[in-house]
Amino acid sequence: MTGVAKQILLVGAGLSGAVIGRKLAEAGHRCRIIDARSHIGGNCYTERDPETGVMVHVYGPHIFHTDDAEVWAYVNRFAEFMPFQNRVKTTARGAVYSLPMNLLTINQFFGKTLRPDEARAFIAEQADISITDPQSFEEQALRFVGRDLYEAFFKGYTEKQWGCSPTELPASILKRLPVRFNYDDNYFFHRFQGMPKDGYTPLIEAILDHPNITVELNTAFSPDMVDAQDQVFWSGALDGYFEYKLGRLGYRTLDFERFTHHGDYQGCAVMNYGDRDVPFTRITEHKHFAPWESHDGSVCYREYSRAAEPGDIPYYPIRLVEEKALLEEYISLAEATPGVTFVGRLGTYRYLDMDVTIREALDTADAFLAAAAGEKTM
Ligand code: UDP
Repeated sequence: MTGVAKQILLVGAGLSGAVIGRKLAEAGHRCRIIDARSHIGGNCYTERDPETGVMVHVYGPHIFHTDDAEVWAYVNRFAEFMPFQNRVKTTARGAVYSLPMNLLTINQFFGKTLRPDEARAFIAEQADISITDPQSFEEQALRFVGRDLYEAFFKGYTEKQWGCSPTELPASILKRLPVRFNYDDNYFFHRFQGMPKDGYTPLIEAILDHPNITVELNTAFSPDMVDAQDQVFWSGALDGYFEYKLGRLGYRTLDFERFTHHGDYQGCAVMNYGDRDVPFTRITEHKHFAPWESHDGSVCYREYSRAAEPGDIPYYPIRLVEEKALLEEYISLAEATPGVTFVGRLGTYRYLDMDVTIREALDTADAFLAAAAGEKTM
């Protein structure tokens, strides 16, 4: 440590807080990390189901995937990763199909035996080429896969997931999903994919395990904690920091309905349900996220999505037109708040994958250290 050790308060012991805290701790700063929950890890938290022994992703499935070699090296420094590729299925109109949409999906759905180039030409015929610059989720789908596939696989699922019409949602949500003209059914494109062998909780525990880091659970933030601090990193909700004084940013929350089964319930980790009249979006069977383990019992969760009420756990930022305007106002407030850096999914109100969260956390910590070094020489 060359400069003066600073006192850092990090609000939230999820990935952002842990990664920033670790980097600043290694540079010699003293990091106090608080979290209102009774556990670390935020929504990445995993634990063993007491009844079946299966490792459960308590807040929904998290599959690690990235193209960022530095981020991949970072997580592998703190935990052993096992190879894992997500191969999602979907049940729609009484049949099971492969996702993301690929040649098997297309051939099954249309009862054809198309080769890649034929499928490309066939889907191009389905596509609505009159849409030149797709703005909404629906336009994006109609432009690239046409009405039949859109209605079977995307429309009902998306209405359930987001609680609104796909005509109101941005095209960017669908851009997360590829359409492949081969039989590759790996859900993600990324070079590096895997699952921490013992779940995410030990990974984050290892990141937090540094003499300059203290973690206090069941500890809500209060403004009087800040007086003596040199810097705050806030990974709680952006509007929450300002006590919702301009209104609430919208989130979707999830309800999980747990059930157990002896043996193998559905034969895969994630089964989506595309039909609107099935009330849940998907069923996850958690032992399939750890195929290197063996369990007789199985634990599954039916996942229901709804608008978050005050007090619910926020999952997906909605980011519709009204939220975007409110978000701009909160961002202005945040920029006018010296000594506080807003980080992570909740702190920046963006839907972030884990790898992006870690990349941004590393960069945020670097920027802070560079600024602190500059201060010292001034
Ligand atoms: N989606 C869909 N049908 C599916 C899977 C996804 O319509 O079977 C849509 C849905 O709107 C979802 C979006 O595509 O929010 C992005 O999917 P992804 O799998 O990335 O969702 P996440 O993992 O974030 O829940």
